[in-house]
Amino acid sequence: DPSTEAYRRRHEITVVGDNVPAPITSFETGGFPPEILKEIQRAGFSSPTPIQAQSWPIALQSQDVVAIAKTGSGKTLGYLLPGFLHIKRLQNSTRSGPTVLVLAPTRELATQILEEALKFGRSSRISSTCLYGGAPKGPQLRDLDRGVDVVVATPGRLNDILEMRRISLKQVSYLVLDEADRMLDMGFEPQIRKIVKEIPPRRQTLMYTATWPKEVRRIAEDLLVHPVQVTIGNVD
Ligand code: ADP
Ligand code: MG
Repeated sequence: DPSTEAYRRRHEITVVGDNVPAPITSFETGGFPPEILKEIQRAGFSSPTPIQAQSWPIALQSQDVVAIAKTGSGKTLGYLLPGFLHIKRLQNSTRSGPTVLVLAPTRELATQILEEALKFGRSSRISSTCLYGGAPKGPQLRDLDRGVDVVVATPGRLNDILEMRRISLKQVSYLVLDEADRMLDMGFEPQIRKIVKEIPPRRQTLMYTATWPKEVRRIAEDLLVHPVQVTIGNVD
């Protein structure tokens, strides 16, 4: 389709993979329910960013995604909004554990992601919480015990809580590795692999990274299945 090609060229979008859907160039045509559109409107966003436009339709058809785009390109909503739809489709009302798990390298990032999840998930009644080190476990465990749809976690603290057997990842079917390159730089690879062993293999996995070095490529090969790769601009 020439308009798809033109949009990709204009926004420096490169895609690699099979059956890559056309980008969603407006929020209204993205297939999001009114509750989510309302939050987008409230935030004052006029159109999807390129990474959102191209990665949403891939994520929405349940394909694995590797998204390579620099900081500030809107990656968080790129994975959160399809994650919300995934939750709604499953209706896992038993809540014996989260459906969506987002791993992020630092407390600051995890907190920012949680804020986006709370803000954009509110109208859809998506419940979310955050697990990170350097803070008491008590309140984090209490939130988990109440039952949540989305957990945003740093790998270290999540492993601690897994070892305490205070969380089950058996209901996770949408896994996001955000800032994968930074998590590997920080030495989290063994922790990530331990966490992923707790998640059933029938899942959708999305990896977001600003750079694409061989360490990141290797973990992507191990954890993702036939991912579509979306790159914005030139990356190293
Ligand atoms: P990244 O993870 O790629 O660094 P973020 O997801 O943190 O980027 O988004 C950067 C900023 O852009 C945030 O303040 C976010 O709310 C905002 N943002 C996200 N999507 C849009 C959009 N479609 N239009 C305008 N601003 C957006
Ligand atoms: Mg980010």
